[in-house]
Amino acid sequence: MSPVGVLALQGGVAEHVRILRSLGCTVREVRTPEELSHVSAVFLPGGESTTLISLMNRWSVTPALRDLCRRGLPVFGTCAGAILLAKEVLEKEHDISQESLALADVRAVRNYFGRQRSSFVQSLDIKGLSSPFKGIFIRAPLLNPLSEKVRVLSSVEDGPVLLRQDNLWLSSFHPELTADGRVHRLFLEEHGLMEPATDRRDG
Ligand code: GLN
Repeated sequence: MSPVGVLALQGGVAEHVRILRSLGCTVREVRTPEELSHVSAVFLPGGESTTLISLMNRWSVTPALRDLCRRGLPVFGTCAGAILLAKEVLEKEHDISQESLALADVRAVRNYFGRQRSSFVQSLDIKGLSSPFKGIFIRAPLLNPLSEKVRVLSSVEDGPVLLRQDNLWLSSFHPELTADGRVHRLFLEEHGLMEPATDRRDG
């Protein structure tokens, strides 16, 4: 099986690499269209979405990644990575839009959870996991579905925090910052990239 890729231009790359390796995956950090063409799935890390999109443009990654996503490559964007996948990106309380890959029918409001509390931890019920998952939120976006194609896998009071549209997964929290690989494993299992675990995502 081809390695799992982590886009390694900026942000929490090492954390995704670590958790994927702990699941037994072969992992490759990807920075170029050529490297992208050799992976079976890609994680877009958290970081700063404005910086990420400008680096992606500079490294000519944007069109290649968009094309691969449209052709069905499983891609999981966490926090800033989720913002990159959203079709609409807005800044909280400002009428400023931002460039993105514009693929998932989702409106992302940047820094939505950032003003009052820049980070917090909340226990999440996630469809497909049999016990709660520790959600770590850092200047997290609000992610609102814009069509019925988007499935909500987990929500908090203000809105959804884990969404899926076919091959595209978006989380406003950081599953890579825990020692719990269940969300990564769920994604990989759903796309046939890992054998379902016998302990069914309980640890
Ligand atoms: N607020 C950041 C952004 O808009 C995302 C923060 C994060 O990835 N933890 O890109």
